[in-house]
Amino acid sequence: MARKKQSRGNCHYCGKEMTKGGLSRHLRSCAKRQAAIAARNGGKGKDETLFHLQVQDAWATDFWLHLEMRGSATLKELDNYLRAIWLECCGHLSSFSIGPYRYTQIFDDGWGIEGDKPMDVPVQRLFSPGMKIPYAYDFGTTSELVINVVDARQGKPLTANPIVLMARNLRPEVTCMECDQPGEWLCMECLYEYDEPGFLCNEHADEHPHESYGEPRPLVNSPRVGLCGYDGPAEPPY
Ligand SMILES: [Zn+2]
Ligand SMILES: [Zn+2]
Ligand SMILES: [Zn+2]
Ligand SMILES: [Zn+2]
Repeated sequence: MARKKQSRGNCHYCGKEMTKGGLSRHLRSCAKRQAAIAARNGGKGKDETLFHLQVQDAWATDFWLHLEMRGSATLKELDNYLRAIWLECCGHLSSFSIGPYRYTQIFDDGWGIEGDKPMDVPVQRLFSPGMKIPYAYDFGTTSELVINVVDARQGKPLTANPIVLMARNLRPEVTCMECDQPGEWLCMECLYEYDEPGFLCNEHADEHPHESYGEPRPLVNSPRVGLCGYDGPAEPPY
């Protein structure tokens, strides 16, 4: 059986296109990134622990991110980031599982899940290289992710934000089920009722007859396409 081609993405610093595993190694040695780190470390500000995180969908492993996160930033900030770039549809609950504990939202009125811990904890108290942290968004139609803590370094953050996007997968290419044009839309009725892939090009999406699950949804670069009411935009928040 032919091995499925692995998805690729570009290094944010030098633009090189690689697999997610290639990028794990490359980001350590990328000359452009190293130059940016050296320039920042020569400047003002406090050093802190910075974590290299590789996040991927637990099942659709073609979807992945390479992030650098400040140790002083919280699980809540990582949760916000993952919602913005991949997950948010209707404000569902989410959780990180670390050791024996589960970290979930605490709402403004103080409501939270009994026994769970709040997410407002700096990740430097929890993360160390080698950890694999299960994350779930929406406890009904769940998106399951794994956060791999690849590496940690001491230095000055490269931006003013808690998290930096270092690379992400390019959107997987699919073909329209009616012709050989690239698929840009997903018909949920084809997917759920007729066991079809449901991919449609712009033209065929326009004239597609199904609507019991609503109009076809845009195929954005997110593992949550096709789940609950998700319709993108799958863009990083900063
Ligand atoms: Zn690079
Ligand atoms: Zn939803
Ligand atoms: Zn078509
Ligand atoms: Zn359809």
